[in-house]
Amino acid sequence: MCSDTILWFRRDLRTHDHPALAAAHDQATSEGGSVVGVFVLDPRFTTGTGATRMAWVARSVLALREALDGRLVLLAGDATERIPALARQIGAAAVHVTRETEPPGAARDEQVQAALAEGGGSAPAWVETGTPYAIGPGVVLNGTGEGYRVFTPFSRAWREHGWPSPAPRPQPASWAQHPDDPGVLEHLEQLAAGTAADLPEAGERAALARWQEFLTGALEDYDTHRDRPALDGTSRMSPYLKIGAAHPRTLLADLATARRATDDPHVLTSIDTLETELAWREFYADVLHRAPESLWQDLTGRLTGMAYADPTLAPTDDLVAAWREGTTGFPIVDAGMRQLRESGWMHNRVRMITASFLCKDLHVWWPLGAAHFLDHLIDGDLASNNHGWQWVAGTGTDASPYFRVFNPVTQGLRFDPDGEYVRRWVPELRHLEGKAAHEPWKVLDGHAHGYPEPIVDHAVERREALAAYEAVRGS
Ligand code: FAD
Repeated sequence: MCSDTILWFRRDLRTHDHPALAAAHDQATSEGGSVVGVFVLDPRFTTGTGATRMAWVARSVLALREALDGRLVLLAGDATERIPALARQIGAAAVHVTRETEPPGAARDEQVQAALAEGGGSAPAWVETGTPYAIGPGVVLNGTGEGYRVFTPFSRAWREHGWPSPAPRPQPASWAQHPDDPGVLEHLEQLAAGTAADLPEAGERAALARWQEFLTGALEDYDTHRDRPALDGTSRMSPYLKIGAAHPRTLLADLATARRATDDPHVLTSIDTLETELAWREFYADVLHRAPESLWQDLTGRLTGMAYADPTLAPTDDLVAAWREGTTGFPIVDAGMRQLRESGWMHNRVRMITASFLCKDLHVWWPLGAAHFLDHLIDGDLASNNHGWQWVAGTGTDASPYFRVFNPVTQGLRFDPDGEYVRRWVPELRHLEGKAAHEPWKVLDGHAHGYPEPIVDHAVERREALAAYEAVRGS
């Protein structure tokens, strides 16, 4: 009997270098069936998500549907019910997925598997192939068979372990047609249009085009330009990696090719640095997989008992609101928070500065900031975001020491020396030339266009943060 095979797309919205797609097609070809590609608009993953982030997801799904000539079945509702229902309805031989390792997705998949198994002997197989990472979380081990909690040894072991080449494109079995749930396409189209933010083009083709543009352009100076938020000096691949429009192994294979093609030490350093950044993504996924509770709790007990501000109390509430809106009176912080709000993305250096400001100048526990970032970032990723926050807050892996408190003014002057980034995102400071944009209080007309005064005194807050830290250390 020939039966169809389901390929359930989640964080893998692409057709190249897609091991689960290859596995689904191989099975369908050998059994004389077709592949039913499915996406489920599941409220558990979309409720409470910001409009810009949702628009990015919706555009990415629609781009995949177009790439499949419309043969991506769109369902809506709780995936733990919709996927088993579809499998029963079409008598599917199997449900193929890319293995999910983040806690909420992994928990959902366990429920789907259990629901599928209720069919007994005739139940469709649940087949997990590949992950969104070059090396699946949980695989890189130290000499005693344990995972790593420190980045440098992890990255060394990760490189030594190596990763497979990009998955070959399968012999295409046919994609089956199947009706969408009523109204889902229209709903996705509404979500896709639901933001005024200037987003990059979504989809696999755009992802690979951006990657090629970066490889043949900014990669050369990546190592020297990547900390400069005013420059287009980084790959900007994070939104595509998040949604799986490109796989990191594709990127790593291209970097290996680029390495073989040059002996320029400057370019070689850039290639190594970028590979290391991709290793951070893999590291955080690995750490979260091993310690799922660290999603919203401190990974380490280093700062247990820390006296954080209660963000539900005024005036902290107002301070947090100023941080969210980019009206703190600290130009680099405000530029970053407005870039986030207006474009759904923020430069890495500025993520560190804005996160440090919330944790150490406003004394707020990191989950509040992490949740805000996740709502808005189009690359919002549970592992990289929440562990990025924990790194800044001093509660996570390789924590930057708590006493290293970023000074938002000197950080701005150092990494945006001409004030270009600040002027781009903060119109009230556009009249100030050069680095003056970082210190409007030093010039007579600095606040002439409505830019706010600093909401706190950094020197005072720094002392308070250090005192709170000393109190915890002493106890
Ligand atoms: P590039 O510099 O071109 O790097 C290439 C890729 O390497 C990135 O696309 C990303 O996948 C990975 N990478 C680079 N730096 C890091 C890092 N520090 N940690 C993990 N992976 C990294 N990254 C996310 O993808 N999603 C998030 O939600 C996220 N939240 C963050 C929150 C905070 C507080 C901090 C400090 C960092 C966060 N990062 C997050 C990491 C980093 O800021 C972004 O990955 C990076 O800015 C993306 O831009 P890019 O693609 O141009 O990076």
